[in-house]
Formats: sequence, structure tokens, C-alpha cells
Amino acid sequence: MDYLLTEDQVMMKDTVAKFAKQVIEPVARENQEKEIYPKEIIQQAAELGLMGVAYPEEYGGVEMDFVSYMLAIEELSRYCASVGVTVSAHSSLCVDPIFRFGTEELKQKYLPDLCSGEKLGCMALTEPGAGSDASGIKTTAKLEGDKWILNGSKIFITNGGEADVCVVFAMTEPEKKVKGISAFVVDKDTPGYTIGKHEEKMGIKSSSTTELVFQDCAIPKENLLGELNKGFKVAMMTLDGGRVGIASQALGIARACIEESIQYSKEREQFGKPIAALQAIQWMLADMATEYDAAWLLTYRASLLKSQGKPYTKEAAMAKMKASEVAVDCALKAIQIHGGYGYMREYNPERYLRDAIITKIYEGTNEIMRLVVSSSIMK
Ligand SMILES: Cc1cc2nc3c(=O)[nH]c(=O)nc-3n(C[C@H](O)[C@H](O)[C@H](O)COP(=O)(O)OP(=O)(O)OC[C@H]3O[C@@H](n4cnc5c(N)ncnc54)[C@H](O)[C@@H]3O)c2cc1C
Repeated sequence: MDYLLTEDQVMMKDTVAKFAKQVIEPVARENQEKEIYPKEIIQQAAELGLMGVAYPEEYGGVEMDFVSYMLAIEELSRYCASVGVTVSAHSSLCVDPIFRFGTEELKQKYLPDLCSGEKLGCMALTEPGAGSDASGIKTTAKLEGDKWILNGSKIFITNGGEADVCVVFAMTEPEKKVKGISAFVVDKDTPGYTIGKHEEKMGIKSSSTTELVFQDCAIPKENLLGELNKGFKVAMMTLDGGRVGIASQALGIARACIEESIQYSKEREQFGKPIAALQAIQWMLADMATEYDAAWLLTYRASLLKSQGKPYTKEAAMAKMKASEVAVDCALKAIQIHGGYGYMREYNPERYLRDAIITKIYEGTNEIMRLVVSSSIMK
């Protein structure tokens, strides 16, 4: 699909593809098996400018666009979905809301270190009782003098164990429910900010997912992100961008399944010929490639609209829904094509399936994506 891309976008894709092949592929399996957070890889990705792809140079970014960002996340996820989500959560869920909703003071304070990768970001919305229904959060923020005092706990936070800066959502006027939520930028070293339980997951095992606890955590009044009580809007707009990142992550997993299945089917012989010569295998590969292209085009459209500053909520939901379902389907087909070997830990397809499943769940489940799409088309 390079004919749809600019020269700069192709260059970004090729650069990240080379980096992923050389640096990520050799260690991806071991990092996943041992649940090792890929700190050095993230540092090297930062040197390539991947922690601030779509943000202005004046804030430390490389000032490209969201199509370039999509391509970068896909290429990282081609070899390791954990690296893909680490960069995606940092960029889409922390850098993006600070860039879009932060005061100039907040942008100057946080963006240069985040975009350069000096610091890692995360975003904390989900709580034990509030997942799909984010309006049910119980974490509170009370203004006392010139400080906001945060109390509450968040779960399942990507980058939680490693992040230096967190965008946190809390109730500032609980009685107003969804209209009483505000967003805040919180530094990890603030007293009262604690990293809680580290989750053991089914897939994306080398990414960090933790609980975050805020106990009388006092942050400067100026760290309110966006308008008071307008945090729900910040969360929803942030998640639109996040969904483009997750769709891109899913594309990387799907492509891994396709490329490795083609290679395997040419090497594996049964009945005296490569299984690639069997129509049953060819048809599975044809379906995988067609579905991947459909998902890629939807993700490209959403990324393009975001780059152009146009509305893209529906398009981001469609892209995330389609790409995640394609990733799971491609992983199942890759296992089938690999036969018994596909079921073994020694081969990649079972890891791709475990990694693909989460893309249907986080940053809004696919049931919620269908609600977003249907409410948009049935207005
Ligand atoms: C590995 C991982 C990383 C994550 N990272 C982050 C992060 O960085 N920051 C963060 O804030 N959160 C994060 N999350 C949380 C994630 O976004 C939520 O898990 C997700 O939104 C679903 O919420 P839930 O788990 O509470 O499920 P629930 O909301 O309880 O949903 C359970 C089921 O009910 C369905 N359902 C719920 N409501 C509806 C409805 N109205 N219509 C139809 N079906 C419905 C859901 O689709 C799902 O199938 C992460 C989660 C995981 C697993």
C-alpha cells in the first residue's frame, strides 16, 4: 500500500521495519517468556524519535503525522506487540492529551521529556468498578489551597510500573457523575503515588500492566488537564487516538501471522509437496491477506483524518474493531496452517494469538466499539 504514502511516511516505515527486525526480533520471544520489560528497546526507539512521532519539534517531537505514527506502531508490533503497546500507550494516552488539552505551561513542563523518551507516560482511567462505564470512577480530586489532593486506585494501567508521568482521571464533583470528572497530570515521584500489583497476563507479557494507588497525593493546582469537570471529554477524545494505535498494533500482529504462514507453507511438505500447493492453505492465506488490507485501509483512513484535524471517532472505532478481529482471525489461521507446530510454544503463532486477543478488549472493548459506530450512523 506504499502508493498511498508520502516519501517521508515510506521512510518512517522502512526505518522502523529495519530497527524492529534487527533489534526487536532477536529478543522478542525471550522477553515475552520471561516477562522482561524491554527498557533498552524503548530507549533505542526513543533515539529514533518514536516516542514523539506526531508532535511538534518545539516540544521535542519529530513533527510527522499520524499516518507515520500508525506505520511505526505496526512495524514495532510486527515483531513484538508488547513494544508496540508500550510506545502506543505512552504516545496516544499521555503525550496526546497533554499536547491537546494542556496549558502552554504544562506542555513546556512535560512534553520535551516525554517526546524525547527521557520519560515514559501512561494514562489511568480504569478502576475495579469502572471499565467500559468510565463514568463510574471513584477516585477523587479535592482542591485544598493550591493543591489537588488525589485519592483512589486504578487498575490494568499499561506502562504503570515504568511510567514517570501519568494522566489520571478523577471525580472533582462526584454528584455530577460524568459531568464531574476532571483530568490531571501526575508525576510518579509525588508522595502518595504508589505502584500496586503487577498483573500477570495471557499475552503482551513484556509490557508493564499494574495497579496505581493515589493516597493523599498532592499535585499542583496547575496540573489540571483541560477544563474543570470536562475530563470525560478529554478521556473520550484521548481514546479515539488510542484506538488508532491499537488498530496499528493489531495490524502488526496480523502481518506477522501472514508472513510467517506463507514462509512455513512453502517449507512444510506433506503428500510429497509443500502445503502451499494445497488450495485449502492458499484460500486461508488469501482470506488473511484480504482482511489485513481491509483493516489497514480503515486504520489509514482514521490516521489520515486525525492528521487533518477532522472528526474521526467513528472511523477510529471501526479501525480498532476490524483490525483486532482480523488479528485474532489471522492468528487462528496461522496456527491452523502450522498444524501441530502452531500449537507449540516453540513456534510464534500461539504467542500471536495471545497477543491479538487483548486488542479486542483494551481502549474500549469491541462491544463498545460497535456502540460508538452504531450511535454515529444512527443519529
Ligand atoms: C492488558 C490491559 C491493559 C490496559 N491498559 C489500560 C490503561 O493503560 N489505562 C486504563 O485506564 N485502562 C486500561 N485497561 C483497561 C481496559 O480499557 C478495560 O479492561 C476495558 O475498557 C474493559 O473494561 P472492563 O475490563 O472493566 O470490562 P467490563 O466493562 O466489565 O466489560 C465486561 C464485558 O461486558 C461488555 N459490556 C460492558 N458494557 C457494555 C455495553 N454497554 N454494551 C455491550 N457490552 C458491554 C464488555 O464489552 C465486556 O465484554 C487495560 C486492560 C488490560 C486488560
